[in-house]
Amino acid sequence: MLTPAVTEGDADTGIDAETLKMTLDTIKEFVAKAMPEERQLQLDHDDVCPEDLVRAMCSDELGVHLLFIPEQYGGMGCDTVDVYRICELMARLDLGLATSVFATSLGSDPIFVGATPAQKRTWLTDIAEHGLLYAYGATEPEAGSDLGALKTTATPVVEDGQTTGYRLTGRKQWISNGGIADMYTILARAPGGPSWFVLKRGTEGFTQNRPEDKHGIRLSNTAALFLDGAFVPAENLIGGIEGLGLIQAQMVFGYTRLTVAAFGLGGGWSALDRAIAYSSTRIQAGAPLSQKQGYTHKLIVPHAVLLEAARSYIEYTAARIDAGQGENGALNTEGAIAKYLATEAGNLAADAAIQAHGGYGYTRDYLVEKIKRDVRITTIYEGTSEIMEMTIARDRWQQHLKSAGHYYTEIASELRALHARHADVGAGTAALASGALASVLEACRVGRLTRSQHVLLRLGELIAHAECAGTFAARAAAALDGTLPAKSDHRFDPEALAAMSRVYARNAAHRVAHEGLRWVLGASQGADTAAFETGLRLDAVRAAQAGLVADMDSVADALYGRPRPPPPTQDRSS
Ligand SMILES: Cc1cc2nc3c(=O)[nH]c(=O)nc-3n(C[C@H](O)[C@H](O)[C@H](O)COP(=O)(O)OP(=O)(O)OC[C@H]3O[C@@H](n4cnc5c(N)ncnc54)[C@H](O)[C@@H]3O)c2cc1C
Repeated sequence: MLTPAVTEGDADTGIDAETLKMTLDTIKEFVAKAMPEERQLQLDHDDVCPEDLVRAMCSDELGVHLLFIPEQYGGMGCDTVDVYRICELMARLDLGLATSVFATSLGSDPIFVGATPAQKRTWLTDIAEHGLLYAYGATEPEAGSDLGALKTTATPVVEDGQTTGYRLTGRKQWISNGGIADMYTILARAPGGPSWFVLKRGTEGFTQNRPEDKHGIRLSNTAALFLDGAFVPAENLIGGIEGLGLIQAQMVFGYTRLTVAAFGLGGGWSALDRAIAYSSTRIQAGAPLSQKQGYTHKLIVPHAVLLEAARSYIEYTAARIDAGQGENGALNTEGAIAKYLATEAGNLAADAAIQAHGGYGYTRDYLVEKIKRDVRITTIYEGTSEIMEMTIARDRWQQHLKSAGHYYTEIASELRALHARHADVGAGTAALASGALASVLEACRVGRLTRSQHVLLRLGELIAHAECAGTFAARAAAALDGTLPAKSDHRFDPEALAAMSRVYARNAAHRVAHEGLRWVLGASQGADTAAFETGLRLDAVRAAQAGLVADMDSVADALYGRPRPPPPTQDRSS
């Protein structure tokens, strides 16, 4: 189940590979010209959202808004893979700007999934033709992770027995584009339950607060919204039926979380690439830092590996969504895994990039300092990392129960089959991670350990890494077979990807087995866990670590463009 999608080739959706490349180049040139590094640093320092630039990007000048709108409404109809590539690039350029531009896509998602055909024609065509900026108004001061606690109300206005409209009353918090949008989608509690409404800026009773003074993404406008009986006509109830709001919000999580995953990936790589460039010229103790193994193998290589592992999960999920498997939130767990891994990796990479720059990295003149503050948001908005862990753990726990414990043993079998075809992509070690995970889950079932919320959330973490080891091995195998889709990222050659995958798989197997053991023992109150420990295959996990440092050397060589010796490659896991 974890292996096929990434190797299926390009689904016949979205724009073609050449158009995607042209689009990426055009966006890069446009932003580089409009916002050189000095302006970017100044805007961050002054805490200003460059609304002129956001609007220029969403107008005929660049037309980035068209990428998210289906062709039938005048857009370009990009698919999920296109959107991930574009979001990654935008985040590389500036995460605040990316947030502002893509708030329109987020804001129009309730329309996209829930509106009637006539409503879609009106509102989506309006965005395509006029480059309107949207904002997505879900969060409230007391309803963040738990949106069900929302208090904003939608009171029907009834005339002659007919509901002609609603009056919205309440407050929305932390809304991207809140102070600059033209249109807002607002989640409010109607008599039939939470529902989405489309609200125009300038409506009486609707005001916006001043921008928040934020830690990062200071180029993005974030503001609270005040609703004091603001009137929306009945036809602005999305879908025309009350009570579908939370379901509609759920329906797009697989997709929207992938967007934020791409933000984490882009932010992380933007910082890490700066550290790679810096360490290539910074001389200490007679040689560039890039030649110091203690430096590269702590501050550079592990982060490149984590980011590329997360990419494999993003691409795997995006390909499945484009193949039509994500309808009605079916891939929400996969979206959560992608977001969790990519945003955590992005944060770690940006933090390491500051360390890699030494004192310079700690100053505001160097962009890594800003990127670190910017990328921090990605583990918070669109669902925090802890909520991702819970989402992942709850779903896969059910899979474990429904399959009588076979969910991950079957994935382990698939990975062993992949290992038989490709002994050099870490699939055998990834199989050990999945096998150990099955044992950990079973020990939790027997000991009823998921009653401890901490154990449940730690399972979320282990599940994410075990699954990702499988997708990374599959992606590395596809690269070796020459079957990576054309729209996939092709920065690293197949041997480099294989070395990265082997490093990641070793870490995943080690983490799942040893952390899993720790939490099971830690929550078991002295119960007999001997059988469980056998299932972890700790000896095999340890044996699989052989060759780790040599593989890290290969990854470092790939990152710094140095000639590489032929790979030692043996995956000692089977
Ligand atoms: C810059 C920025 C832009 C944003 N843009 C938008 C936007 O455009 N539209 C929008 O609607 N929202 C937006 N948000 C809101 C964002 O999605 C929320 O901040 C986020 O979902 C977390 O909600 P909260 O802030 O209320 O934190 P809380 O939900 O109060 O969480 C606080 C902490 O508790 C943890 N936690 C919460 N529940 C549990 C639990 N059950 N078990 C264990 N731990 C838990 C969380 O992980 C977190 O660490 C934005 C936020 C920011 C900061």
